[in-house]
Amino acid sequence: MADVIVVGAGPAGSAAACHLARAGLDVLLLEKTAFPREKVCGDGLTPRAVHELMTLGIDLTTPGWFRTEGIRLTGAGRTLELPWPDGAFGLTRTRADLDELLARNAVAAGATLLENTKATAPLLDHTNRVIGVRTPTSDHHAALVVAADGASSRLAVALGLRPRANRPIGVAARRYYRSPRHDDAHLEIDFDLAPAGYGWIFGMGDGTCNVGVAFLRTAHADYRRLLDQWLAPLPPEWALTPANATGPVRGAALPMGFSRQPHYVPGLLLTGDSGGMINPSTGEGIAYALQAARLAADTITTALSRPTPGQRERTLYGYPSTLKQAHGSTFTLGRAFTAALEHPSVMRLATRQALAHPSLTHFALKALGDFPTPTTPRLPDRLAAALTKITPPS
Ligand SMILES: Cc1cc2nc3c(=O)[nH]c(=O)nc-3n(C[C@H](O)[C@H](O)[C@H](O)COP(=O)(O)OP(=O)(O)OC[C@H]3O[C@@H](n4cnc5c(N)ncnc54)[C@H](O)[C@@H]3O)c2cc1C
Repeated sequence: MADVIVVGAGPAGSAAACHLARAGLDVLLLEKTAFPREKVCGDGLTPRAVHELMTLGIDLTTPGWFRTEGIRLTGAGRTLELPWPDGAFGLTRTRADLDELLARNAVAAGATLLENTKATAPLLDHTNRVIGVRTPTSDHHAALVVAADGASSRLAVALGLRPRANRPIGVAARRYYRSPRHDDAHLEIDFDLAPAGYGWIFGMGDGTCNVGVAFLRTAHADYRRLLDQWLAPLPPEWALTPANATGPVRGAALPMGFSRQPHYVPGLLLTGDSGGMINPSTGEGIAYALQAARLAADTITTALSRPTPGQRERTLYGYPSTLKQAHGSTFTLGRAFTAALEHPSVMRLATRQALAHPSLTHFALKALGDFPTPTTPRLPDRLAAALTKITPPS
């Protein structure tokens, strides 16, 4: 019997386990694979994610991290470089490395990690409250369970929580290439990708680049063909050719805009991809997974300190609105944005206009990309903040 069982040791699960263990709770972290394990991702960490890594006490000065200074947007023959605000920095690191590091960090904080342990079903009491999980070898009980089991979240599905039909679903695929661009300090995003989507080149600082494409599932595109088509006309000196690939193309779904709700059902909280917490405008998910994990851990710690079951439950039911307060408006704007981008002509016009007008891009990154506000906000920051404020969370 643990205080909390966390299912899945990706960024959401390991962060939740770490925060909960630091708060003095007895935490069991179950992971179906064994570390190090691959996870299909762009490996890009924005300053928002870096901030969350710092709250976890991760040492970002050790070898293996590659620092970025900003992003570079390209498209319609234009290029725009934007530094991260206020001297903040971003990072890249392979998920094989990052996820193991976060899981070991949770263990160092006091959580018990069981690798090669798959949660096969939730355990329910007679009121249908989740009271633990089943694994192939035993049943584990806890006061609360955190679902951090990723996009397919079998735990949530077993409870009837399916992705909402009215939320956008993205698809993304990546491949690693040996490339002289491996030490480019800007995350490059290219909008010359049809249908609706973008391509990215992220330097890993280790001789390779993480290169990929992201698009809306409604586009019905084949990601291997799309990646090849996009890379073919790029300068040969970048060496992004099949001969320089270090592995195969791999793709996965992007559950976006709070696609699975509610985020709390009695006994179970959803975090990260299991709750569809990827920003629809950008495809960024790690920062939101880490942040949701922190908010879930705070909610659980407060709830378990309440004296009566009624008070505990009221606190737990507050978790979905805490999440909505944090990201609901940004995700609502993102859904509107992705709906507009389904029309290729709108996408082309938006790219041309935005890259020709840096203030417009700055505004869009703040409103849609949820970029940090600088200490001295400029007009686009203030307008974006106002727009986010008046947009209803959903
Ligand atoms: C191609 C691609 C590129 C992306 N690029 C970026 C990017 O550059 N930056 C960014 O911020 N985001 C990116 N994302 C999104 C990001 O990868 C996810 O949002 C992030 O991984 C979510 O973390 P998570 O912990 O919720 O889930 P996951 O990382 O999916 O972790 C879930 C964990 O649960 C385990 N698990 C699953 N089921 C069970 C079970 N039944 N029992 C036990 N364990 C289980 C899995 O093995 C896994 O370890 C990208 C996604 C894709 C597909």
